[in-house]
Amino acid sequence: MAVGRGAEARRGACFRSRDGDDDLGMTGTATANVRRRRMENEEAPATARSSGGKRRRRGTDRFDTLPDELVLSILCKLAASAGRPSDFINVLLTCKRLKELGLSPQVLSTASAKTFAVKAKNWSNSADRFLKLCADSGNVEASYTLGMIHFYCLQNRRGGASLMAKAAIGSHARALYSLAVIQFNGSGRSKNDKDLRAGVTLCSRAAFRGHIDAMRELGHCLQDGYGVCQDVTRGRRLLVHANARELAAAVNAMISSRSWISSSWANDYRRHGARTGVTTEYPLLSDYGYNVPALEAHTVNRFMTEWFAARDGSPGPGLRLCSHGGCGRPETRRNEFRRCSVCGTVNYCSRACQALDWKLRHKEECVVVAAAGMGVEEGGAHGVENDDRAGDGDRQMMMVYS
Ligand SMILES: [Zn+2]
Ligand SMILES: [Zn+2]
Repeated sequence: MAVGRGAEARRGACFRSRDGDDDLGMTGTATANVRRRRMENEEAPATARSSGGKRRRRGTDRFDTLPDELVLSILCKLAASAGRPSDFINVLLTCKRLKELGLSPQVLSTASAKTFAVKAKNWSNSADRFLKLCADSGNVEASYTLGMIHFYCLQNRRGGASLMAKAAIGSHARALYSLAVIQFNGSGRSKNDKDLRAGVTLCSRAAFRGHIDAMRELGHCLQDGYGVCQDVTRGRRLLVHANARELAAAVNAMISSRSWISSSWANDYRRHGARTGVTTEYPLLSDYGYNVPALEAHTVNRFMTEWFAARDGSPGPGLRLCSHGGCGRPETRRNEFRRCSVCGTVNYCSRACQALDWKLRHKEECVVVAAAGMGVEEGGAHGVENDDRAGDGDRQMMMVYS
């Protein structure tokens, strides 16, 4: 590797954070290790020169003879398959050529969500710039991730929605669904700005692309006639399809990982199960008699959860987080989210989140609360009411779970 290029790469400012360290998921120790290795490599030839008394000719650098197309192809595969940001960033920090090729639109457009899965505690302007660079390269996943972070965490509503819309135009199912949630809730605006029809349309497009939460949301909308003409049979069919797709996705994940998927909220659920003596580890898809773990939360949902956890779990005065642990969405105004009408202790950004959390966790808690203090019969219908205090017609939106 050309030594001079290592020195030039260090002058690059692309990944600089406030303190000068790379912070896109790289720890300070990892960064220090990379720099130490580089310094050792640079010092070695100098030592050889001084001890030998003569200038030793360096060997031919075969890396320089590789065509750009081949290096780009390798970098594209790396960006698409990296397990964490440092796997990709450390390679780019190796030399100037790798950095230049690694930051080309051809490579950045293929970067996966894990490649730019920056942790909330490491968020910085440089991470923001890197994600923007990926988004500008046509990476719809990066547009969606940056859009969610700007909209919900940085409260840049217009910029965040614009980035999500850019991803949605590229048929990104998560972006379509997230925009649907924003329309259903009137997020970032007043409660009078809810657009249920727009929400249903966006939800339909996401569901058409197989997004499970969108299918579940749309199923409940059809069952309840919420933003769409009521069609209970079609709604029920969509809910069954959502469960079937979830089962297939969970089984595929189990086969590929050969282990139970773990996440912080899933671990919370396990601890909850241990406390309550519930022997079923995951009741998800219990309709089918299967016991499979919930799918791993998306990186941006984990980011939002970590972001607000670092702020005492509060998105702002009087605002609440979605009670589904794998979501992380905050309210953008008071009483925006729907509240469980049975126990009144949990709030959800969407029907999909409530339906999932009901199966994963709340079914056990809510029954206990209801039986103890509210006189609701166990196994009865479970409701959710919109918590905006406007009496705007959707205050009682009953959901019956299988
Ligand atoms: Zn939610
Ligand atoms: Zn409840």
